[in-house]
Amino acid sequence: MTDPTSSFDSHHPPSRELLDDCVHCGFCLPTCPTYQLWGEEMDSPRGRIYLMDLAERGEIELAGAFTEHIDACLGCMACVTSCPSGVQYDRLLEATRPQIERHVERKTSDRLFRDAIFALFPYRRRLRAAAVLGLAYQKSGLPRLLERVLPARLRATQALLPPVRLREAFAALPRRVRPSGPVRRRVALLSGCVQDVFFHEVNAATQRVLAAEGCEVLTPRRQGCCGALGLHAGREDHAVERARETIATFEALPVDAIVVNVAGCGSSMKEYATLLADDPEWAERARRVSAKVRDVTELLAELEPRAPRRRMDTRVAYHDACHLGHAQGVRDQPRAVLRTIPGLELVDLPEAELCCGSAGIYNMVQPEPAAELGARKADNVRAVAPELLVTANPGCLLQIRRYLGDDIPLRHPVQVLDAAIHGPNGP
Ligand code: SF4
Ligand code: SF4
Repeated sequence: MTDPTSSFDSHHPPSRELLDDCVHCGFCLPTCPTYQLWGEEMDSPRGRIYLMDLAERGEIELAGAFTEHIDACLGCMACVTSCPSGVQYDRLLEATRPQIERHVERKTSDRLFRDAIFALFPYRRRLRAAAVLGLAYQKSGLPRLLERVLPARLRATQALLPPVRLREAFAALPRRVRPSGPVRRRVALLSGCVQDVFFHEVNAATQRVLAAEGCEVLTPRRQGCCGALGLHAGREDHAVERARETIATFEALPVDAIVVNVAGCGSSMKEYATLLADDPEWAERARRVSAKVRDVTELLAELEPRAPRRRMDTRVAYHDACHLGHAQGVRDQPRAVLRTIPGLELVDLPEAELCCGSAGIYNMVQPEPAAELGARKADNVRAVAPELLVTANPGCLLQIRRYLGDDIPLRHPVQVLDAAIHGPNGP
């Protein structure tokens, strides 16, 4: 039944109880990137909760200002970390975005652009075809030629394209990797979609490091997008379909943990239990899979280091990916894992809680604020003069690389650990 007094439909609207948890204290405002940029109340967490409250009472329609302010939210969840009242803005946002997708008619160009993203990114085969075209495009000199004439969104998307290496894009990971000594843990690895095609090296390093630390690693061939992009963008049908496929793939494996090396994917997979909570066929299966999901650094931090590490006299800055730090609360483990490397000096960034502007598809659909946040993050990185920047999310790696340039190399934490264990050129 749809409540005639609400602008939301009755399918999982933001709940009145969660909305009422906000006491309007404003403690979250300084950590909100969009409030930092524009100083507008309606672009703060408190303002957005107020808008949701009005919509829940039917006092504002979803089209127009409501959608603009919700669209402008990065979904970075810095407000969840900073809220002393425990307001679950993550649950509120994930209930609100699908309502917008169901009820608000987007401009044709906006809809087509979003549809194109969802027709490409979650599919490995299509991404591989795009990698071939992307390589030809990068070598043609066209990117520089078109730089000035492309619309802002396409310009941003083009600038984020990583240097394409076809050998990596088409490489397959071994399905089973065994440790040389006794097995301490049996784990499954999510190889993902974008990660599998453009960051194959991170997946390969993850397998090597886990094996070196005594884990047997199973990497099912038939797997793909976990639904994170859809979940964070309000495309609920997409997220549910991908979640079911991923659950069906991983629940069958006899493993202690499901290891994820992408912050956004890990946070989504931990939310499967909530996403499918009222689906009688999937609720319990989702709960079991969610309970096994661990970021790779969470798992490594649980294991007493076994593989000897080479000394690395390097000053390393660590950037907390929002979906690892704010959404999963995983902050200490990546740092603890990096500190197992002798000689490595770990430094934190100023304004560490502020998002870099990547935020799933945000830097493609909202290129202007994403550019400001990217430049600000790059300035904060330069301020601590590291020799290496480390972060656990491919979106952050691409976004920060764009604004930082090539002076400071960027790596995933497992790549640094892999180099310490196996040497810079691998085993
Ligand atoms: S979300 Fe939390 S910190 Fe922000 S205004 Fe509401 S109660 Fe205060
Ligand atoms: S999720 Fe991030 S951008 Fe959105 S309201 Fe919270 S702090 Fe602001």
